[in-house]
Amino acid sequence: MQFIDIGVNLMNAAFDRNREAVLSAAKNAGVSPLIITGSSLKSSAGALAFAGAHPGDCRATAGVHPHNAKDWDIPALLRLRELAACDALAAIGECGLDYNRNFSPPAAQRRCFEEQLELAAELGKPVFLHERDAFEDFSAILKKYRPKLSGAVVHCFTGGMKELEIYLAMDCHIGITGWICDERRGAHLVPLVKHIPADKLLLETDAPYLLPRNLPRPLPSSSNGPGAAKARGSHNEPRFLPHIAAFVARALDKETEQLAAETRVNAIRFFGIRESSGGNIS
Ligand SMILES: [Zn+2]
Repeated sequence: MQFIDIGVNLMNAAFDRNREAVLSAAKNAGVSPLIITGSSLKSSAGALAFAGAHPGDCRATAGVHPHNAKDWDIPALLRLRELAACDALAAIGECGLDYNRNFSPPAAQRRCFEEQLELAAELGKPVFLHERDAFEDFSAILKKYRPKLSGAVVHCFTGGMKELEIYLAMDCHIGITGWICDERRGAHLVPLVKHIPADKLLLETDAPYLLPRNLPRPLPSSSNGPGAAKARGSHNEPRFLPHIAAFVARALDKETEQLAAETRVNAIRFFGIRESSGGNIS
């Protein structure tokens, strides 16, 4: 079984000491390639450089997260446009709106979001989207740009049926994380995933965040030989994606193998990942 993790914050400081080991543990667990999430100009540049140095194993997104929207200006837009020219680019983002703690003022978030959507439309790239506590504004802005966008994935979807229907009506892909494995706050997603068309579903860990709550503890260490990534604290890792997939497959009443195959094809098409004749991702 082979999975593609469409959301890994591999440039996060949590992985500074074991980035390569996390990557190879993921590969050993059948999770490859990884789509590394860029969330600032700095992390996007880092993600693209890392992905460029690991061509069959990683791709990266480039974008500015709403938390960082206060730093958005014309030079930032120009820099993002430059980064988007990299071969390893999979999508523009993570971008969107997050009114949960308003680390950036809402008006700055909206401008930062719209200008990234405009750039993605102009470049013909899909977008990797983040929305938290901002559904009304977020969906209104997305609706305006959606016809011009080649693709859009709402990453880490945690909303309800109403939100899901609106995203699906806009022909969005839906990213499901280990949030669904959390019986306290993710239980509503279990019946809801059945309403996501099979060709619109994508799987992600959002590592190092969102460690699935129902993973056996202590965390299984990776079977990657000496120097392997030891399970570190409570960090999530892309190697745990098969655990999330098995949980989602049970919710969908289908075999994990089938879900793996379907979501893999979805990710390959969505991000335009080229497959060589040998079946390997290139
Ligand atoms: Zn996010």
